[in-house]
Amino acid sequence: MILLKESIQILQACEDVQDAGLIFGTWGNLSVLLEDGTILITPSGIPYDELREEDLVICDMNGNVVGGKQEPSSELKMHVEIYKARKDVKAIVHTHSLYASVASASLNEVPLLVEDVAMVLGGSIEVTSYQNPGTQELAMEVVKHLGKKNAVIMANHGQVGVGSTLDDAILASVMCEKASQLYIKALEITDSPKVLKDEDVRKLSETYVNHYRRLRDFKE
Ligand code: 13P
Ligand code: ZN
Repeated sequence: MILLKESIQILQACEDVQDAGLIFGTWGNLSVLLEDGTILITPSGIPYDELREEDLVICDMNGNVVGGKQEPSSELKMHVEIYKARKDVKAIVHTHSLYASVASASLNEVPLLVEDVAMVLGGSIEVTSYQNPGTQELAMEVVKHLGKKNAVIMANHGQVGVGSTLDDAILASVMCEKASQLYIKALEITDSPKVLKDEDVRKLSETYVNHYRRLRDFKE
C-alpha cells in the first residue's frame, strides 16, 4: 500500500476525468509531482474504474520505478520532461478526448474563441508533429509546443493539460477539449471564426491568475 494523500487525489482525479467524458478505454494517464521530487503516476493499461491505490507507481526524474508493483504509464518520459521544463507544473493529465483528437488529426493549432478557455489555457493550443507514443521524441515535442501554456495537442493522438494542482490540470484538459469543440463547430458556420487576439488572451489569463485563482486560494 502506498498510502499517500496524493494517491487518493489521483484516484479521485481518474474518476473526475471519466465523468468529464475525456476518457475512452484505458488510454490516457495522470501524474502528480511529489514533494521529494518523485512522480506519482497511473499504471499502464489498467481500466480507470479498477484502479486501486496499490496500482499507482512512483518514479524518479530519470524514469526509474522507485515504488509500486505495476508498470508505469507508457508516457512516463513525457511526464518527466514536462516537470523538468516547467517548474510551475505539479500535475499532468493526458487524455484522448474526442474533439482534441479531431483537432490532432486536422489542424496545426486551435485558436481560442472565448474567455474561459483563454483564461485557463493562456494561449492558442499548438499541435505537435506526429511522434510515436511513449517516445522521448514525443516528450520533447510536447514540451516545445506546450511552452508556457497549459495545454497542448499531440498530432494524431490526444491532448495534455497541466497545472499547479490536479484540479487545475483537469480543468486545463476540459478547456482544451472545449476549445477544440468550439473551434471545430465554428468552422462549420464560417471559414473565419472571430479569434481572440493574443493581447486579449494575455489580459484574460492575467485576470484568471490574479482574480479567480486568488478567490479559490483564499477559500482554501
Ligand atoms: P498508458 O500506458 O498510461 O495506459 O497510456 C496509454 C496512452 O495514452 C499512450 O499514449
Ligand atoms: Zn496517449
